[in-house]
Amino acid sequence: MFETEDTDDTPPRQRRAFLITSASALAGLALWSWRRPRTVVADSPAKAPKEVTVVRFSDAGTRLTIIKIQQIVKTEDEWRKQLPRNTFDIARHADTEMAFTGQYWNLHDKGLYRCICCGNALFSSDTKFDSGTGWPSFWQPIAEENVAETRDRSFGMVRTAVSCTECDAHLGHVFDDGPAPTGLRYCMNSASLKFVKA
Ligand SMILES: [Zn+2]
Repeated sequence: MFETEDTDDTPPRQRRAFLITSASALAGLALWSWRRPRTVVADSPAKAPKEVTVVRFSDAGTRLTIIKIQQIVKTEDEWRKQLPRNTFDIARHADTEMAFTGQYWNLHDKGLYRCICCGNALFSSDTKFDSGTGWPSFWQPIAEENVAETRDRSFGMVRTAVSCTECDAHLGHVFDDGPAPTGLRYCMNSASLKFVKA
């Protein structure tokens, strides 16, 4: 009648094995969580996308809508296949093009500058100015939502790096020695931009 008080009909050995497996799975998860920030290597898998807000613009520069979308996430290999080598190094690995070598530092045409990686609208020629630096320079992004700014402590300097909100492409840096009305100088790499003539 009372042969067993255990309502679980799993044999004890199997249960123990299950518990041990769970414990190692948890330990593995903890190890994975702990190691995750360090795994920024060339062929690491794509990070989980996050939701971002960007403003869409027509090629003529007209502000269209503000939208929430998943940030574009691709693997290193996918970006490498999509972009020329120099662009890949600059846009995906924060390299900097040589001054006076890019295609846009001396361009004065009217139009829109989009992200080379994803097409997100970034700057208008209306805010471009001659900074004398050899890099295309703007005193304001086309919409503050469309660029992200982060502290950059590389090369022993403290700078503010500017990236594309939609795909996290590195664009350049922003400095506070620009002209009126903002006093800002968005110092961009031509390689990270794609000009669309108005
Ligand atoms: Zn982009």
